[in-house]
Order: sequence, then C-alpha cells, then structure tokens
Amino acid sequence: MSKLRFRVVETAFKKKAATVETPAERPSEYFAKYVFNREKMFKYLPGAVYAKLTDAMDNGAPLERAIADEVAAGMKRWATELGVTHYTHWFQPLTEGTAEKHDAFVEHDGKGGMMEEFSGKLLVQQEPDASSFPNGGIRNTFEARGYSAWDPSSPVFVVDDTLCIPTVFIAYTGESLDYKTPLLKALSAVGKAAVDVCRYFNPEVKKVVAYLGWEQEYFLVDEGLYAARPDLLLTGRTLMGYESSKNQQLEDHYFGAIPTRVMEFMKELEIESLKLGIPLKTRHNEVAPNQFELAPVFEECNLANDHNLLVMALMRKISRKHGFRVLLHEKPFKGINGSGKHNNWSLGTDTGILLMAPGKTPEENLRFITFIVNVLMAVYRHNGLLKASISSATNAHRLGANEAPPAIISSFLGTQLSKVLEHLEKSEPEDLMLAGKQGMKLDIARIRTSPFAFTGNRFEFRAVGSEANCASAMLALNAAVAEQLKTFKTEVDAKIADGKDTFAAILEVLRKDIKECKAIHFDGNGYSEEWKAEAARRGLDCETSVPLIFDAYLKDSSVRMFESTGVMTRKELEARNEVKWEMYTKKIQIEARVLGDLTMNHIIPMATKYQSSLIDNVYKMRELFPADKAAHLSSKNMEIIEDIANRTIFIKEKVDEMVNARKIANKIESEREKAIAYHDRIVPMMEAIRYHIDKLELVVDDQIWTLPKYRELLFIR
Ligand code: ADP
Ligand code: MG
Repeated sequence: MSKLRFRVVETAFKKKAATVETPAERPSEYFAKYVFNREKMFKYLPGAVYAKLTDAMDNGAPLERAIADEVAAGMKRWATELGVTHYTHWFQPLTEGTAEKHDAFVEHDGKGGMMEEFSGKLLVQQEPDASSFPNGGIRNTFEARGYSAWDPSSPVFVVDDTLCIPTVFIAYTGESLDYKTPLLKALSAVGKAAVDVCRYFNPEVKKVVAYLGWEQEYFLVDEGLYAARPDLLLTGRTLMGYESSKNQQLEDHYFGAIPTRVMEFMKELEIESLKLGIPLKTRHNEVAPNQFELAPVFEECNLANDHNLLVMALMRKISRKHGFRVLLHEKPFKGINGSGKHNNWSLGTDTGILLMAPGKTPEENLRFITFIVNVLMAVYRHNGLLKASISSATNAHRLGANEAPPAIISSFLGTQLSKVLEHLEKSEPEDLMLAGKQGMKLDIARIRTSPFAFTGNRFEFRAVGSEANCASAMLALNAAVAEQLKTFKTEVDAKIADGKDTFAAILEVLRKDIKECKAIHFDGNGYSEEWKAEAARRGLDCETSVPLIFDAYLKDSSVRMFESTGVMTRKELEARNEVKWEMYTKKIQIEARVLGDLTMNHIIPMATKYQSSLIDNVYKMRELFPADKAAHLSSKNMEIIEDIANRTIFIKEKVDEMVNARKIANKIESEREKAIAYHDRIVPMMEAIRYHIDKLELVVDDQIWTLPKYRELLFIR
C-alpha cells in the first residue's frame, strides 16, 4: 500500500466514535425548540396578529404590512432570546439544494450608532443579488432582479445564530425561479380539485392536503479516505474503482446492527432534527455496505420537503463532526445499490380521511377507488413527464441500472386492488357495493421493483433520487392529479346533468378510466427485459437518454396540464428545461475533466511506475539466467508489461479523444443539443476509460496505488 494511502487507511481505522451528549429533556420537550411554531406565535404575538397569521398559514390569506411588522417584532424577540443576530431568506434555487444570504439585524440608529432591527418588510421580502442562479434566461443579469418572499405555510426556524425564513424565489416579471413556488401552486391545485371530488361523498369536507413521507438513503465514508479520492470530493461519486470482492452478496449489512461510529452520527442528527421540528422516526442500514436510511413521520408535502432539504444540510454538517462525509449522490459506487428517496404520497381531508385508504362502507370504498383510479389516470397520462421529474445526470446511473426501478414509469397495485378494479370494469356496479360489505383487505407491495407502488394507504414514488429536491417530483405528480380530478369532475357532472344518479355517474366514468389507463398497471418484475418490450408495446415512455427525457416537459399535454392548473406557464417550463439541460452538461463536463486529470496524474503514472519495476526485473533475469530460461521465467511479467502498455495507450488516446469531443460539444449553442452531445459522446467514452482503469487497479502493485479502494471506502466505518 502506498505510504499516503496506508496513513489514511490506518487513521480511519483508529477513529473512535465521538460520543453524543443526549439532552437532559425528553424528545417531546425539545421537539421544535428552534421553530417559531404556533405555540411560540401564540406566546410572542398579540392575539389579533396571531389570528391573522394563522389565517394566512392555513388559508393562504394575504398578510398585510402592518401585521407583518408585528409578526417580525415577535419573531425577533423570540430569536434574540436564542442568541440570534442574523436572518436569512432560505430558498430553493434550480441548482437543487438550498441557498441563503445572511444579513445582520443591525441598522443605523441615526445617532452614529447601530440598533437591532427586523421589520415586516425584511421578513416578507428580500432581494438577494441572485443574478448568478440559473434561471434559463428568464431574468437576464442586466434586467430587474428576482426577489424572495416568505412562505408562511412553512415556519421560520433558527440555525446557529441565524433566523431562517423559508421563501419562494420569483423574478420581478412573476416567473418562478425556484422549486417551492410551483410546488405550492400544485399543492393548492390538487387540494382544490380533490375537495370538489371528495364532496360527492362527504359534503362537509373543506380542505384536502397532500402528504409526503420521504425515506432518505445515503452512504457514509470516512472523511480521510474521502479526501484522498478527488473524484468523490469533486463529483460526489467514484469515477473509477474495481468492485470489492465482498460487497452486498451476503446481505449481511441490511438491517444488521448499526456500527457504533455511525450510531453516534445518527443520534446527533436525530436530536438536531427534532429540535428543528423534523419528526425523524426510522433509521436502519440499507442493502449496500456503508449505506443507511432515515425517515420521518409524514407531513404536509411542502413542509415535508423543506424538512428533507434541511435534513440533507444537517447530514452534511453533522457527518463531519463524526469524521465522516455523507454521500447523497444516487450512485457513488458502481456494482452495488444506489440511493433513492422514496416519496410516500397521499391525500387527506380536514375531517381526517386518508383518501388513498380503503374504508368499511360501500361509499367509502367507492371514494377510495375514485381516488386510486384518478391517480392511475394521471400517472398514465403523464408517465413521461413524471419520469422527467425525477431524471438527472446523477439519477441516470441508478434508473435503468440493475437494482433500481427501470426508466419506465408503471404502477404496482397488488392482487386485491387489481381484482377490485378488474371486477369493477367488467361487471355491474353493485359488485363494488358487495365487496364493500366485507371490507377491503389489501396486500401491500413488498416488491421493490415498481417505480410507483400502491402501499396500502398511499403511493410510493420510488424513482426519486437521493440527492434530488422532492419538489420536482411532487409538483409534477400533484399537478397531474389535480388536472385529472378536474377532468373527472367535469365528466361526472355532465352525466349528473343528464339525469344520472351521482354514484352511477361516478361508476360509469371510473369504468371508462380503468380501461383507458390499463397500460400503466404492472405488478410483475420491473427489472426484467420482457417488461421493457411489453412497456414499449403498451405505449409507455421508454426513453433512456436524460436530455431527451426532459423533452416531456414541453409536450403539449404537459404544457396544457401545467397551465390549466396554474402551476407553470410555457415560458417557465421552457426556461426550466434550459436549466436542466445546462445542469446535465455541466455535471458530465466536470466528471469528464476530473477523470482526465486523475488519468494523467494518478493512473498512468502509477501504472507506468509498476511497469518499470517489472521491466527492471526482466532485465535482471537476463543477467542472472541463460536467455532461454530468463525468457521463460519472465513470461508472465512480460504479459503484464504489455497489458499495462496496451491499456495506458488506450486510456491516453481516449482521454485525448474525449477532450476533443468536449471542445466540439462546448461550441454547440443550443443547451438541449449540447446536453445530447454530452450524453451520446462523452458518457460512453468515460465508461470505456473507466473499464481499463479498473483493470489496471487489479494488476498494479497495491503499494503503488494511491487511491483508496472500494473495499476500504465501503467497509471502514
Ligand atoms: P417502508 O416499509 O416502505 O420503509 P415506512 O413505514 O418506513 O415504510 O414508511 C415510510 C414513510 O411513509 C414514512 O415517512 C411514513 O411516515 C410515510 N407514510 C406512512 N403513511 C403515509 C401516508 N398515508 N401518506 C404519506 N406518507 C405516509
Ligand atoms: Mg418504503
């Protein structure tokens, strides 16, 4: 082992788990300690202000300036007691992740001194100089700037000395420049549409909300080993590395005991998350070595998404305190499982009904089937778009790869629910009523191969990437369901107007829809080759090239759906696609550069060094032995010498070719065409180069190899 690598590995092994102090209070006591939630609002705000604010939170009522001033004053009082000196508008640019710009509370006091100030204006609106955030051309740098504005449905919270205000980020011309704005619009649209449909069954329902429960998968890698891998450091994944002889074959890591150092990290993460009001509940090992998962109790979708982004930030920070780096990339290691973020999604009413859960009476079951079928219709109509919503340069390594959902969206329903739908489609409406009497018992999807599975009282969108902002998938899904529910209502109402009984009208439309969306329903093995052929026959979107998958956003059906639900305009969709293509190109571009550098600075020098020592040996053999014997004794070394020569020549030539291909691609003006060039030309070259590098890793002396290997990255914890 090279000296450097030896030192790094040795230090990693010797690391002791840092112990985390458990707070003296119980979790229920420190939960949401750093959140300006209703309890604090009640305590720090005058009664009338509290009432107005909660109205804004619950019903989206506008917040007047005078009220905002009072809210800000109360917030500041609370925050100052926690030692807070700064505030920031916390928003979700299209780069993914979150962005913040901190300002101190200080202002001139007019007497040559400073005073602490935080007005309603500062709470409600800020103008980050954010001209360098990607905006797809909507907001040219010389134009008016974008502004951020508080989203009162997500409470303000404190991190360190800073008051964080969740905000939307919008151009002055009104277009959204972030993920939160269209998500809020989609949630509002689906809420309204669902209330309307719900009222056929429960006229008292006033509000429907979408819920999200995410399950976050991630890897932990020792910080020292991470630092010795420039590819991990710069791209978040290993661009090379031969599979470890042992990885996940024995499945001994999955649900095994959590390693001590990891456990301490998890503990601290949980404590800090709970203090921020994030209800973390579940933690366990995942399938691959050094892979783990955590999940909270589900929450209203917008808040759940803010919490996911916050947790990812906390993970990055807290892992370092424990000598780890967290890898949120969808595929940090080749040959073992990647990381996803299952999005458990459902709709629920203000009267406590989960609309995706079966009930006990015939009416309840008709309502249940109504919502299930409408979701299936939405997913069927927009399957290409939903795939686009979870696609990225990084998730591409996971989708379509062996262990992950295929790059085709389909829905798993399970035997019971499938039977109910079949029955309903074929027979008389009365059958549903009969099924209802015995109550519906449903089998739950244990099969993990479906990208969109019904799991008892919710759907699980499993294709979402571990690093992604869930909003991308959630805004597409909720908007699509909103559109479908509206269509459904129009069709049912038309039948009612024709004199049909309400339930009979609903049944008629459902039966038509069940037939229409059959293609989306698939309970078989999604990883099989047969499914790919079958899905294509069914007319489902089977595109695998990410830049082309993004085209789905601009299909007429998508634009119509987003515009009719008020979620996004064509202009916004076009701009966002520009950003998506640009991001795709940049990610591959960075990877290609890092691969090129590593090849020239690490791989070829290491291989050549080892090759030279073999050549030296061959020469010395000739001095020691007669020519014939020397040739025989050196034959294996000669083979390796040649093998190394062939591979290094190939690698060097490919790297040169790749640099040229990049130069050509970079000149392409259209972002779409450029991304396609990167996908079609650069990615295959990177794979070819990697293949030979990984072969070299197998032959080159371990003492000379400077980069930590898979067995070290994956098994030291
Ligand atoms: P799994 O067995 O798939 O790991 P879990 O029981 O751990 O499932 O739940 C995964 C996530 O689903 C959790 O965040 C949980 O709160 C959430 N969840 C449960 N029910 C619902 C629901 N009706 N709507 C949305 N999310 C839900
Ligand atoms: Mg799950």
